[in-house]
Amino acid sequence: MNIQITPTTWKHGKEWAYTVTYDEALTELFDHTVPLHEELGIPGHVEVVVGQMGQVRQIGNSSYNGYHHMGADRLRELIDMGWGVGNHSWSHGIVEENLDLEIRQAKQVLEEAIGQRVTVYTAPGSNANITPAITAALQESGYLCALSVTDDINRPDADLWFLNRASNLHQAWTPLFSAFDPHHRLMQAQRESGWVIDYCHCPAPSIPHESKDLYIDEHRARLHAVVESGGDEVWIATAEEILDYIVCRRHLQIEPAASGQESYRLRLRDLPVPVASRQVTVDIEVAPNLRRNPYIMLNGQPQPGLLVTGSALRATLDLSQPVTLSVGGSSQ
Ligand SMILES: [Zn+2]
Repeated sequence: MNIQITPTTWKHGKEWAYTVTYDEALTELFDHTVPLHEELGIPGHVEVVVGQMGQVRQIGNSSYNGYHHMGADRLRELIDMGWGVGNHSWSHGIVEENLDLEIRQAKQVLEEAIGQRVTVYTAPGSNANITPAITAALQESGYLCALSVTDDINRPDADLWFLNRASNLHQAWTPLFSAFDPHHRLMQAQRESGWVIDYCHCPAPSIPHESKDLYIDEHRARLHAVVESGGDEVWIATAEEILDYIVCRRHLQIEPAASGQESYRLRLRDLPVPVASRQVTVDIEVAPNLRRNPYIMLNGQPQPGLLVTGSALRATLDLSQPVTLSVGGSSQ
């Protein structure tokens, strides 16, 4: 075999990935946080308490009571800016008590409100809201993941039904109180090809709860640290985009197309229906004789091949349909 095809860990061959989540999807995000995102040109992700969309928050003794949950118009505005939207349950209570309402109906109502699929579930309160019964309900209802409140990066082989989120807080709480660090877990993600999903609520000049949030100047430093330390190596995207990619990568099947020829059939096998973006980036290791004037042949159509390392061509392929791939080059 003259060529070897490998999917890259992250789309476009990026080294690591980053998403920032804002639990509760508060309208007050538009005061300071959304403008910061616009300034930096990066998307965010909001987690919606579906039963209180468009209403003043009133949940138990929440420190955010009196704040405002975004309604459909605000959520759609964010989507138009490239943001993603997840389900933070219907009531922000005990999810297992009513799986149909908290998981299934919440998804339906939210999808109707925003005009888009919902594949992300973010556990409200604590990890007590990720149980085997909840995971089963999520899988049956067409979700692709569950976000927890465990502080860690997500490695390339992460369990999608218990994704970790990094503490992006002024002062994380008991038993090990810890202070804000704009570089928290970023070097670890770079080293281990990880995905950092930040956890916070509504960064602002004043915040009601220092263990659940951070000041806007700190958040500015955080996003700058991601952009600056990540450079061209970080993929900053919504949870939906990154999940689609991980699932596609895991379902990619590569087999020889025909005997005696250097061509391969690439397809996504048994891909879950909710996956919307079906693009996979592949690196194609080629022999030296194919590195001069290289091209990639997709379904018989030649495309320029980009030599990204000493020996590999890279291409991002749309695998909504299976494709046949071969590589050519000339020695002239
Ligand atoms: Zn919450």
